[in-house]
Amino acid sequence: MTTSASDISRDQSAKLFEKAKQYFPGGVNSPVRAFKSVYGTPLFIERGDKAHLWDADSNEFIDFCCSWGPLILGHNTPEIREAVSAQLGKGLSFGAPTALENDLAELILSNNKKIEKIRFVSSGTEAVMSAIRLARGYTKRDKIVKFEGCYHGHSDSLLVKAGSGLVTFGETSSAGVPKAFADETIVIALNDKAALEQVFTDFKDQIAAVIIEGVPANNGLLIQDKDYIHFLRDITKANGSLLIMDEVITGFRLGFEGASKYYDIQPDIITYGKIIGGGMPVGAYGASKELMACISPDGAVYQAGTLSGNPVAMAAGIAALNLLAQPGFYEKLEQTTQDFVAELRAFIEEKGYEVHLTTIGSIFWFAFSSNPKIQRADEIDPASMEKYKVMHRELLNRGIYFGPSGYEVGFISAAHTEEDLKTTIKAIKEALDIVFQ
Ligand SMILES: *Cc1c(COP(=O)(O)O)cnc(C)c1O
Repeated sequence: MTTSASDISRDQSAKLFEKAKQYFPGGVNSPVRAFKSVYGTPLFIERGDKAHLWDADSNEFIDFCCSWGPLILGHNTPEIREAVSAQLGKGLSFGAPTALENDLAELILSNNKKIEKIRFVSSGTEAVMSAIRLARGYTKRDKIVKFEGCYHGHSDSLLVKAGSGLVTFGETSSAGVPKAFADETIVIALNDKAALEQVFTDFKDQIAAVIIEGVPANNGLLIQDKDYIHFLRDITKANGSLLIMDEVITGFRLGFEGASKYYDIQPDIITYGKIIGGGMPVGAYGASKELMACISPDGAVYQAGTLSGNPVAMAAGIAALNLLAQPGFYEKLEQTTQDFVAELRAFIEEKGYEVHLTTIGSIFWFAFSSNPKIQRADEIDPASMEKYKVMHRELLNRGIYFGPSGYEVGFISAAHTEEDLKTTIKAIKEALDIVFQ
């Protein structure tokens, strides 16, 4: 029988967390970092190199959180570090255009035919917020439709969850969001064509845009069928509404053309973040020339940013994307992920454990459920998160760092070696034995 590994030392992290609690709400600058959904205090990280992390107690981990997605090349990538260092000597910010913005845009647009023009911002939240404004400005309509289980950052219009009933106005999912904002956002379930049809009947000629994650990956990994995504594309077009594909996770993760290519569709507006900045804070939105002509100073939709197109961040993005653009990069990473998943699936099947490993590209998610194909948020059983909690503890104690919530997906980076993955597979097998014993 497998037994629990002894707990890692967290003395330094615990001390730092106590101090942080005096300064920040909950001791953190972004809520999930507080480890509320898993055991123990959050680990304070000191450094990362390739696929490895070291915390303040000198514990070493193989990292599958990868800063929540941006680090598709792992930590401390020499090419990114050198590009950033070179820029540091020239200045951090000018508030004026630089050639670096052109270079990153050219690199993106020449490898991504889904958009014709792009605008850089500083986060995924900002990218999505701006895309929504563009959709409203272009269509001269106010309502937007989002899906339960999709996360699009923390702007007011999108901190909205489903009300009761198939098609209703949303309810705010955060205090401080005016009801009037929530009334402009309609929330429906994923993978439900009837709900989409009803929304366009009930709110005829009022819907500016429907927004969906390229592949919903912020609340489990809810991979949608191609047929459904094409239905969504067709129904938005038929009703004069725009389709916004939020590719903040999937953009540059499933290739340069992201989920749009995977589903073979042409969204109207696409948002990016995470990987695009190579680990620095960058977001972006892009669309056709016609749509982007609506953005100021060309058009009437206002959007600006003091640090937008920041030269250091652009340098990091260029260095990262140049590596991703190498022939075979994604094929290799996806093959590595498939091999990893296949070995774990074989183990799970052999043991008959009630858990399913879902995967797309280099993203994976453990669903503790008897349902092999979860596609909607309400198909996830909240009680199953107790099992994740145990797995998370057992993995940390074996030197494997997963995101601190069972709703979060894991990422494999190009820095994960065969050895790293072998070690991880062994640890996961032991952790699952303990979860199900
Ligand atoms: C992370 C994320 C966002 C928000 O990006 P931030 O950089 O955290 O503001 C928006 N949409 C999706 C799909 C995301 O995964």
